[in-house]
Amino acid sequence: MNAIDPRTVILISGIMGGLMSMVLFFMHRSYPVTIAGLREWAWSLAILFLAGVLASLGGVAGPWFANITPNLLISCGMYLAFVGSQRFFGNAVRHAWYLGPIAVVNLLLLWFTLAQPWYLARVLILTMLLAYLTGMHAWLVLRQRQPSFSHWFVAVVLCLASLNEVVRLVTALTLPVGETVFDRQPQNLLHITLYPFLMLLMAIGMVLLATDRVRAQMQYLATHDSLTNTLTRRRMSEACEQELARCRRHGRSMALLVVDLDHFKTINDTHGHQVGDSVLIRFVDTVNALLRRGDELGRFGGEEFVVLLPETALPEALLVAERIRATCQADTGMPPYTVSIGVAGYQSDTDTVDNLLGRADAAMYRAKAKGRNQVEAA
Ligand code: GH3
Ligand code: MG
Ligand code: MG
Repeated sequence: MNAIDPRTVILISGIMGGLMSMVLFFMHRSYPVTIAGLREWAWSLAILFLAGVLASLGGVAGPWFANITPNLLISCGMYLAFVGSQRFFGNAVRHAWYLGPIAVVNLLLLWFTLAQPWYLARVLILTMLLAYLTGMHAWLVLRQRQPSFSHWFVAVVLCLASLNEVVRLVTALTLPVGETVFDRQPQNLLHITLYPFLMLLMAIGMVLLATDRVRAQMQYLATHDSLTNTLTRRRMSEACEQELARCRRHGRSMALLVVDLDHFKTINDTHGHQVGDSVLIRFVDTVNALLRRGDELGRFGGEEFVVLLPETALPEALLVAERIRATCQADTGMPPYTVSIGVAGYQSDTDTVDNLLGRADAAMYRAKAKGRNQVEAA
């Protein structure tokens, strides 16, 4: 423990923060604008970098440079990291709750540095503020209840950072505190070694959170139709393949509906393309409200949709199809519309997604031929 030089640790922590800040600035520039909070995170690390460099000058430079400014920068940097997370998670930022305590703490630190120099008071006040900021930050992340690794990683790191400050507070009250941050008591060295380590982990966690979110957004875009938010043809085909495999393995049933809006070209020609789009959205809302959890709706072409009904035999699937047809017909929005539906059920191990879809499609065309606004079984 004695081999650790606090001044070097503080300087290295600052430099690591600076490097991570550069990473986050690059990410802020190149990531989609929908990933909020990256700029605040990048600035917070840059500010903590500056704080680390200035604090390492303690005993060399005067108190304004080596105490007062770094303390202000550390509290602002920690707060900005918290603001970044609030933006990232889409929470309202309540500056009033935090800027007041930060201002009071820094005025007290100023007082106990210049007017009434008292190191113990400075340690207590600053650690209380940092424990509060990191604790609230940890609570914000924990509240999100997201199951991803990056989310838990950041939550645990912030809890440990807050705990590190609490331990510092308790040891400062119960053990000799020394005269400067560079004193070599074990509790001081422990705190000062853990602090940069945890800040580095926090920065890594921010990068993980942001990349996780970009990946999730890209995955969503690749698997969902941009107009109706239903599954894309490719994702829907995958879902059908998976369900078919379950049917073969466990002898379960499944059904597919091919749903096509009737005379949709006429709706477009009469009311315009935008109204046509809104009819597609209304149709999707209507169907989603009728489906069970586990059922899937995908858009296969312009106004042609496929519904996957797992664990559903043909007679039940026909009932679902009829409910969809009747509800679309009864939709009181303008303009009115109807649908034709073909239904095919899983029959044997030799069934493939293509021939199930082919049978449902053929049934749908028979429904069209019979005058539309009807349901046909394959
Ligand atoms: P049928 O009853 O035989 O299905 O007649 P239909 O007019 O619905 O079928 P047709 O295939 O002749 O026309 C489909 C129309 O759907 C033509 C196309 O412009 C329109 N369409 C395809 N995708 C979209 C879309 O995203 N938005 C809108 N508004 N229209 C679309
Ligand atoms: Mg049509
Ligand atoms: Mg069509």
